[in-house]
Amino acid sequence: MNTDYDIIVIGLGAMGSAALYQLARRGVPALGIDQFAPPHQMGSTHGETRITRLAVGEGAAYIPLVRRTHEIWRELEAVGGESLLTLSGGYIICPQKGGAHFHGVGDFVMQTAQLAKQYGIEHELRNAADIRNHLPMLKIRDNEHAFYEPTGGVVNPERAVAVQLREGQRRGATIHTNEKVLDYAYDRRGVTVTTTQGTYSAGKLVLTVGPWVIDFLQGEMRKSFGVYRQVFYWIEAEDPALFSSDRFPFVIWIGDTEADYYSLFPTPPHATLAVKMVTEEYLDTIHPDEVDRTVHQKEISHMMDHFVKNKVRGLTRNCVQAHVCLYTVTPDAHFVIDWHPESERVMIVSPCSGHGFKHSGAIGEAVAQMVLEGTSQMDLSLFRFERARRESALGGDG
Ligand SMILES: Cc1cc2nc3c(=O)[nH]c(=O)nc-3n(C[C@H](O)[C@H](O)[C@H](O)COP(=O)(O)OP(=O)(O)OC[C@H]3O[C@@H](n4cnc5c(N)ncnc54)[C@H](O)[C@@H]3O)c2cc1C
Repeated sequence: MNTDYDIIVIGLGAMGSAALYQLARRGVPALGIDQFAPPHQMGSTHGETRITRLAVGEGAAYIPLVRRTHEIWRELEAVGGESLLTLSGGYIICPQKGGAHFHGVGDFVMQTAQLAKQYGIEHELRNAADIRNHLPMLKIRDNEHAFYEPTGGVVNPERAVAVQLREGQRRGATIHTNEKVLDYAYDRRGVTVTTTQGTYSAGKLVLTVGPWVIDFLQGEMRKSFGVYRQVFYWIEAEDPALFSSDRFPFVIWIGDTEADYYSLFPTPPHATLAVKMVTEEYLDTIHPDEVDRTVHQKEISHMMDHFVKNKVRGLTRNCVQAHVCLYTVTPDAHFVIDWHPESERVMIVSPCSGHGFKHSGAIGEAVAQMVLEGTSQMDLSLFRFERARRESALGGDG
């Protein structure tokens, strides 16, 4: 068995599969290792759909990333023969006065509109009557308005991971699944990775370990990342056709407080025939191995009583399925994509904070460029580790 590679990628979820694929495209001898068999349901990359939008209100630095990722997904659809990206269009709704902060940003609708204008992204601002007209199933309040983007939609995360691993392997990448990394070490010449199955060496190491990032960092460095349990719910519709992706856009619905936030997902072909919904909760940080993976009846009842009943028409009280998923959050909700503070042989890639998937293809490409050439075409300067460490020392606002 070969134990010596140019690059080792630990973690083959959204970011690791994208990085490994891009390394393999460049003909680099790379090893990808995962403790499970991706795509799986234990990390942050499952649940049939992820929202994607070109007008990324989280900040201008993200817009080139999402644009490039859409291009990569279209390339992967052509080679893999399966649809990934469905452009259903999408709404971001919030109170006209701005509402709660979302992903660390206040007045998310107007911030998104301003960036859309600046970057020439097709969009409209719609008032309550316009939204009701398009989406009569939403119980819109008179004081709400929305940003609408026709170029947004949903992507299938499991398929994106699977096709990148398959294509990466076909182009020469080595993949080890169900193999847990126990330790890693670096010196000036390279890195060594010890797993449950053996020891491997390489010139450089990419850590795309999602919520397990805290296991790979020491002391104060871990404080920049909090892991939070989230739940997806799939609610049965009286008429599922009304919520299919050819008729229904995604809806990010921001309320007056952070507890009052919900997203609704359109149902693309081949997804579970029900309306997927998600909230965001930042109750307790937890280690991913200790997360309660059961969705309890009281959580489902809360979703029904506080959201389904008050905000959406045409849904039943039948929750068809529900899954736990994990956010890895920095204090200001921006990513960390940077060299390890102690070694330029180890790259840390932690782009979750609930909005990472739409950038994953371009992040994989930028990471491949960084480890091979020392620099990337994308500007990653916002995502320095130092920023997250400074924010965690200050307390942050995410
Ligand atoms: C509920 C929810 C909703 C979201 N909605 C959106 C959305 O609508 N739009 C959007 O753009 N983004 C969204 N996101 C964020 C997006 O899904 C994440 O940014 C992305 O999936 C993170 O991928 P990752 O590769 O960092 O982590 P993961 O996919 O979790 O991958 C990490 C991998 O590392 C492996 N690993 C960890 N430790 C070890 C070890 N010791 N040895 C070997 N392998 C190891 C794990 O097994 C895992 O496979 C959402 C996330 C959640 C949880």
